[in-house]
Amino acid sequence: MDFDEKKFFLGKLCPRGHEWNGIGQTLRYLSNEKCFFCRKQQYEENREKLCEQKKQYYEENREKLSEQILRVLGKNKKNYNQLPLF
Ligand SMILES: [Zn+2]
Repeated sequence: MDFDEKKFFLGKLCPRGHEWNGIGQTLRYLSNEKCFFCRKQQYEENREKLCEQKKQYYEENREKLSEQILRVLGKNKKNYNQLPLF
């Protein structure tokens, strides 16, 4: 595996021990020296959390949301079949 030398460099091993190809060094961003894998991991954790929050929001507001949609679509009953599945 190769990396983009314009964006990354190999530096000190990060606290989470993300080693690059087992050479005892970590792939880091040239711009801020942050570990590439930590960043990626953080991003994925955040995305999961956001996803979870969204799901929770829908769960909690399911009735309110579908009521709103029904009210909007109420003028045209044919549209009931096209309701998004909450
Ligand atoms: Zn790391």
